[in-house]
Amino acid sequence: MIQSKGYAAQSAETDLAPWNFERREVGPHDIEIEILYCGVCHTDLHAIKNDWFPGIFPLVPGHEIVGKVASIGAHVTKFKIGDLAGVGVMVDSCRNCEDCNNGQEQFCQVSAVQTYNNLGKDGKPVYGGYSNNNVVNEDFAHHISEKLDLAAVAPLLCAGITTYSPLRKWKVGKGHKLGVVGLGGLGHMGVKFGIAFGAEVTVLSTSESKREDAKLLGAHHFVVTKKPDEVAAVTGKFDFILDTVAADHDVNLYLPLLRTNGTFITVGMPVEPFHVPSFSLASGNKTVTGSGAGGLPETQEMLDFCAEHNIVSDIELIDIKDIHASFDRMLKGDVRYRFVIDMKTLNS
Ligand code: NAP
Ligand code: ZN
Repeated sequence: MIQSKGYAAQSAETDLAPWNFERREVGPHDIEIEILYCGVCHTDLHAIKNDWFPGIFPLVPGHEIVGKVASIGAHVTKFKIGDLAGVGVMVDSCRNCEDCNNGQEQFCQVSAVQTYNNLGKDGKPVYGGYSNNNVVNEDFAHHISEKLDLAAVAPLLCAGITTYSPLRKWKVGKGHKLGVVGLGGLGHMGVKFGIAFGAEVTVLSTSESKREDAKLLGAHHFVVTKKPDEVAAVTGKFDFILDTVAADHDVNLYLPLLRTNGTFITVGMPVEPFHVPSFSLASGNKTVTGSGAGGLPETQEMLDFCAEHNIVSDIELIDIKDIHASFDRMLKGDVRYRFVIDMKTLNS
């Protein structure tokens, strides 16, 4: 077995703390990654707090993983030792069902394995990226360009693909007005991709303090959703709204901001279900839809697009010991715009 050390929650009631554990041996099609950086996704916090469902504890979160290939199995062809590699929200699937064949392995109906809080095909729990290494099948690791700042690439593996995928699916681009709700980890990537695809982007935020940052990110407009006059001024304006909010909130504030035939895409995953009166959808032929991460081919496409267009996440690099202070700030919407753990700090 491979020896690993990381930070784990032993239960939903305890904080993350150092934990030594084992991962499987490197199989013929596996690579071992020495993890250098791991992004802190709001999903990590939902998971260790059992927000959605009871977790598998001890739980090592982290699904925005980048690092260097430290060893490879005998049949690995995609990577060599020393290559950069990234792992996102999943580490295995059946590769044979309709979803896998469509490049949407994240929805594999047979044996999808999430990066953490899940059981691997061997029936044992898998552990995420708040740790010094990981062992994954080579198909589920992605090539990372040497051109970009590696720490700032880490969030692309979840926040990046989760916003890239729906904007591509709905062909958001030139001539479209896009509203992005919530300027956090996912939201700021939604803004960057919206701009890169040619849309006119408005940030819809609860935080007046993010107005200047939104401009620096390239957003064309900024609306504070706590100010009724600012909200009223954008009624009927948007072709698309991308909702990235992690906390429970009333989406009926945003639906009137769509134009006729407009589309509301939720990628945020609050605990409580949305309540949407059918009248607000029927009136204006509005669509409410969702999107979950992205498949393997599209994740590599997104990483290549980012390398070509010099897109990375705006990050605050943190010491792993400060993870709970970072979670507290994340809960207050005070993250500019993704915390990334410097894995060197595991040893200090
Ligand atoms: P985050 O960094 O905490 O960002 C969420 C943002 O939402 C905050 O920065 C804040 O922005 C806004 N917000 C917070 N509380 C709010 C409230 N009560 N009402 C309105 N806005 C509020 O979180 P994240 O990592 O981007 O993740 C966002 C959500 O996406 C989480 O639920 C996560 O689990 C989910 N997620 C889904 C997928 C998927 O596959 N669909 C993948 C990854 C994550 P402002 O200050 O600008 O208002
Ligand atoms: Zn995530």
